[in-house]
Amino acid sequence: MLNAPEILIVEDDAQIRRFLRTTLAAEKLRYHEAGSAAEGIAQARARQPDLILLDLGLPDADGLDIIRAVRETSQTPIIVLSARGQEADKVTALDLGADDFVSKPFGVGELLARIRAALRRSATIRDGAVGTVYQAGTITVNLEARTIRVAGQEVHLTPIEFRLLETLVRNAGRVVTQRQLLIEVWGPQHSEQGQYLRVYMAQLRRK
Ligand code: CA
Repeated sequence: MLNAPEILIVEDDAQIRRFLRTTLAAEKLRYHEAGSAAEGIAQARARQPDLILLDLGLPDADGLDIIRAVRETSQTPIIVLSARGQEADKVTALDLGADDFVSKPFGVGELLARIRAALRRSATIRDGAVGTVYQAGTITVNLEARTIRVAGQEVHLTPIEFRLLETLVRNAGRVVTQRQLLIEVWGPQHSEQGQYLRVYMAQLRRK
């Protein structure tokens, strides 16, 4: 399995690591393990994995530091393995660029579904081939031509509405936080203006 995707597990709990190893091996996925943040950052840099499974509660540093460090140099998908009571961290993790999270305790089915989705995105990033035409139900979005059709009829969007839709489409299948949308569409100085988002989302949904 030379081309099997490579996954980096960053988790200090030996029992969870064993569970992850068994799950990944059964799917013929290759994996590497790190039991600390320092080791995790070093392996992420050295191995350039296709996906990182990341525990936030590590002995030497916060898992959030790993997300920051990894995002400085790569877009490798990161799935956070979060424990109960880390709700605030989950939001921060997404804002920092994590792609998804699973809450512990998680089942094999859920974990693998999220891994598969993340690996599909990883393949897209690697190939550099982000598609320009997206279809969802009766809606077709052409990012290059900047056209939107609903059931074959062209719909006119304002520039802001288009940017909002484009951001959502480019992140299809991922959780996108309100803050991320505000930063992408309106800029970092408007990251707290939730009311902009509500108004424009309502307009966009209506169209
Ligand atoms: Ca832990």
